[in-house]
Amino acid sequence: MTGFNMEITFDLGTSEVAKAPLALPPLAELLAQAGFRVRTARRADCPSCTGRSRMTVAFIGEVYFCHRCKRTGSRESLARELGLLATDQESVIRRRIEARERARLRSVADRLREAERRVQGRARANLLSLVALRRNSGARLVALRAGACERFPGESEFAWDALRFVADHEARASASYLVAAFASERDRAVFSLHPEQRAALVERVLENGGLRADGSRWVELVL
Ligand SMILES: [Zn+2]
Repeated sequence: MTGFNMEITFDLGTSEVAKAPLALPPLAELLAQAGFRVRTARRADCPSCTGRSRMTVAFIGEVYFCHRCKRTGSRESLARELGLLATDQESVIRRRIEARERARLRSVADRLREAERRVQGRARANLLSLVALRRNSGARLVALRAGACERFPGESEFAWDALRFVADHEARASASYLVAAFASERDRAVFSLHPEQRAALVERVLENGGLRADGSRWVELVL
């Protein structure tokens, strides 16, 4: 596939597309199956390039192209390389089983993403409401000390209680948000799906003062 003239291959791609059976998986999925690492909706890493090949592949619609090694092709040419176009009964049955398994995995992955999104949203809302509470209570205490009247009896005591509450909860809420938003893929999944293991993950972040995100970037817990 390497070293093809781009124009010729793209022409070939277009005519192939016309006869491509509808049951073929989307291009991104075929690229992943063929060993490309799909990074975004339009970009992937190239398995044919040696050395740095991050995001060198552009793909759109039915075609893909590696800007570095010039590897190029279409949905159908990939499907052929992957043996997805064979029509003998055995291949058809195998493909059907694989398609079912992929659909199952996709649905598990979708549910996990949804759960993570919800948990992260809650962790963020929780943290923000603590921050707002701290800010409001702090501002009221400053005003009261400067001579403002209490808006209700016992307001200043209430504000101090609120500040104590924030102090007790803010570090844990920050650590929770860090785990939900930045932890490794595995820890994020555990955090979303196993509430009983959350405390241990949060405790570890508090102890270490941060966490190692995917790709080993260190994210500091700022309190
Ligand atoms: Zn390449």
